[in-house]
Amino acid sequence: MAKEFAQQFYKSSAWKESRTAYIKSVGGLCEECLAHGIYTPGKIVHHKIPLTAENINDPSITLSWDNFKLVCQDCHAKEHAAESRYSFDEYGGVVPPIKKNF
Ligand SMILES: [Zn+2]
Ligand SMILES: [Zn+2]
Repeated sequence: MAKEFAQQFYKSSAWKESRTAYIKSVGGLCEECLAHGIYTPGKIVHHKIPLTAENINDPSITLSWDNFKLVCQDCHAKEHAAESRYSFDEYGGVVPPIKKNF
């Protein structure tokens, strides 16, 4: 079920470099947990605007730090559970609205 457009994007050096730089910029902690005063290592750089076949070639969406959020696995599942439709995780897998992916 993985979407090829997302798989290719997540393999790109532009994404890997942006992701690494963003993680450093926020200190490596889950931003969602931190907002609640909890220190949890962030594992996943989530796109607030989910990647689609339409925006995958738009760096203002795919590579914009404004669209990034560093989260732990639990918070990432919650982010996607909050979405009302199917979306894709950072590995190109489908994340149903109610199922925890991790
Ligand atoms: Zn978290
Ligand atoms: Zn995500």
